[in-house]
Amino acid sequence: MLQVLANDFKRQWQDTESAVLSAVTAVGTSGWYILGKEVEEFERALAAFWGAPEAVGVASGLDAIELSLRAAGCKAGDKVLTTPLSAFATTLAIIKIGAIPVFVDCDDFGLVDLQEATCAFQSRPDIRTFVPVHLYGQPLDLNRLAELRDAFDLLIVEDCAQSIGAYFEGRPSGSVGLFAATSFYPTKNLGALGDGGAVLTSSDQGAATIRKLRDYGQSAKYSHTMIGYNSRLDEFHAAILRRVYLPRLPHWTERRRAIANLYRDGIANPNIRPMPIAAGSSSCYHLFPVIVENGEKESFVAHMRQCGIGVAEHYPLAIIDQPALAGVPHEILGDCAHARRICRLEVSLPIHPYLTDDEIVRVMAACNSWQ
Ligand SMILES: *Cc1c(COP(=O)(O)O)cnc(C)c1O
Repeated sequence: MLQVLANDFKRQWQDTESAVLSAVTAVGTSGWYILGKEVEEFERALAAFWGAPEAVGVASGLDAIELSLRAAGCKAGDKVLTTPLSAFATTLAIIKIGAIPVFVDCDDFGLVDLQEATCAFQSRPDIRTFVPVHLYGQPLDLNRLAELRDAFDLLIVEDCAQSIGAYFEGRPSGSVGLFAATSFYPTKNLGALGDGGAVLTSSDQGAATIRKLRDYGQSAKYSHTMIGYNSRLDEFHAAILRRVYLPRLPHWTERRRAIANLYRDGIANPNIRPMPIAAGSSSCYHLFPVIVENGEKESFVAHMRQCGIGVAEHYPLAIIDQPALAGVPHEILGDCAHARRICRLEVSLPIHPYLTDDEIVRVMAACNSWQ
């Protein structure tokens, strides 16, 4: 039986091949492959799209978070509040600079619980850095996030790897923190044909620091004023992203939202509950998570695969339960029962913009025929 894929990169390639090849030719013939005008132009286009004053291209989403923390002055031994439910990279960025991740539980939307975060900042003046994640494409409540920032004078790096094009009450995710980090990993809503990432910020000085950090800490050629990284977005990806994928992103996001609406209307199985969306939030539907209410996740996943549906899990294990974390300093506030419950019960349905109407119907029929 034909598979309904979680991501259909071959269809994307069929649709965009000639435009991508033109972008590649333009860079190839320019003879300039690292930190040239394609990266500059992409940064301008991305900043304009996002409504942010500055964007800086880097090598990955992980690096975007790590460099942001560094540029914000976060250092070894600092405590950083974050969520146990995310890609491991969120926590990895904190650990890589020697800072100490402190985990609080998430809420019913799978997002870091801002009430619990408030309690943590109230009782723990030693925690003044926060890395929240706009998970699944759902923005956190940005008004509350801004209130927290101001009440506790927080340094915030927003993980926007899954939230490009997501808004809360008209305001884009990433607009509250000093920095926002995003990723162009191929599965993301704005995915490259390889790795890439970017930092968004309204701070000129912050952007300048990220530009130094990504290029060995150079402030001018052969003048190294910081201990930096090699974390440069290359000209090929910048050209492909700006010329081909970024212009298509609004349409792709609309398609994701339309699919989500069809799913919400069409999934009638009481044991399959789409993850709710908070009032005021406009998700960019990076993922479409559902909760398997009767607890039989393995059986549902097996059924969907039997029906040819490429489902996934985000995430099968909470970050706090990952073996790699056992060996590094960290703190867990409370029991993180919500995060662990979502890990036990969550399944992601296909929601990429190249799904056909027939495939959407098949996904819903497969959900509704499971018992
Ligand atoms: C993908 C992702 C990252 C890491 O991005 P990479 O480009 O793979 O390094 C970080 N955080 C979240 C929430 C992600 O989904």
